[in-house]
Amino acid sequence: MTNNLLQIRQADPQANYLAHKVEIDSAIERVLNSGWYILGQEVDAFEKEFASYLNVKDAIGVANGTDALVIALRALNIGVGDAVITVSHTAVATVAAIELVGATPILVDIDTETYTIDINRLEDTILQILNSTSQNVCLKAIIPVHIYGHPAGIQAIVDLAKQYQLYVIEDCAQSHGAEYKGRKTGSWGDLAAFSFYPTKNLSALGDGGAVVTNDLSLAQKVRSIREYGWQERYISSIAGMNTRLDELQAAILRVKLQYLDQENLQRKQLSHTYNQQFFCTSLILPQQYNEVHHVYHQYVIRSEQRDNLKASLKEHGIGTLIHYPVPIHLQPAYQNRVVISQSGLNNTEKISSEILSLPIHPHLTDEQVLQVSKIITIWHKDNSGKN
Ligand SMILES: *Cc1c(COP(=O)(O)O)cnc(C)c1O
Repeated sequence: MTNNLLQIRQADPQANYLAHKVEIDSAIERVLNSGWYILGQEVDAFEKEFASYLNVKDAIGVANGTDALVIALRALNIGVGDAVITVSHTAVATVAAIELVGATPILVDIDTETYTIDINRLEDTILQILNSTSQNVCLKAIIPVHIYGHPAGIQAIVDLAKQYQLYVIEDCAQSHGAEYKGRKTGSWGDLAAFSFYPTKNLSALGDGGAVVTNDLSLAQKVRSIREYGWQERYISSIAGMNTRLDELQAAILRVKLQYLDQENLQRKQLSHTYNQQFFCTSLILPQQYNEVHHVYHQYVIRSEQRDNLKASLKEHGIGTLIHYPVPIHLQPAYQNRVVISQSGLNNTEKISSEILSLPIHPHLTDEQVLQVSKIITIWHKDNSGKN
């Protein structure tokens, strides 16, 4: 360790709190003084504001992103005997949610440019399942993951789903504000799930999540499942659970929602700086597409010397993370609980050993990004030929 240690964090939820401290503290005080702490004015208002931001008909606040996925699946009556297609290159929560409702996760490979589900392999997988003579599960839905803030090819996915009569639940836990062809992620599928975990682009100071939809009858069902299956207090019309968003988190989210676009823009600008600095290297950089508004939840590069690069950055006091080091199908808990699509998961397995998430958050400065980039470009020179 050197004494000019930079100490640059990969993500920084505290900086985000401090940036909005006055407004957040006053929102918290408002809730504390209101005497109403669960499902009240703040959650109502946040749900309306978030739905309007996304341009969807309804949003329902829940306890976390995993529950948001679980409730979305339950609202579609997906459970034991059903199968749901998703990817192995995701947070474990995506696959855990499918498992939690008793359905079988079927994992399809990603494409190596967007790191999202490969559309051709998706269609092949759907056809294989539907044409299988030994079919022992009923294919019901697709959960595309807009990973790193980069939208999946959602239009093609929704078209395929329509063609084969499948539901689409978007996993938007990393894509708050991202757009595909000018339309926000979360507004394309039958339902979408958001997480407000403290490091996400829109974040609570604790756990939080939301389900959003344009289908008002599904919204009503989600709202009911969120709280014991009630439509009328104390009377469970359907089987439900308790996964409420609380008033304090909703009040905090209302403050932060106002800054989401501005903070996403800052992430995007930092990503441009990284791109420019790495232009002459052989590192594989995030790809940019015209039809996509990428919100850089993560800025992910690839190198065959990833572990060496990560260690070198650590020595300089620069935090990095790997999202994710082990694909879900190779994790101990899930190895025997998922089905792998016939086309395999080669891309997923290959990139998991090469990806590295560099520091990116709205309170990082351009100067800090230049400092990180400089260390990486020097490292690259010393290691080129090997990369
Ligand atoms: C964070 C995340 C989730 C889960 O959200 P929690 O609020 O932690 O339950 C689900 N999917 C993806 C892709 C995520 O990044």
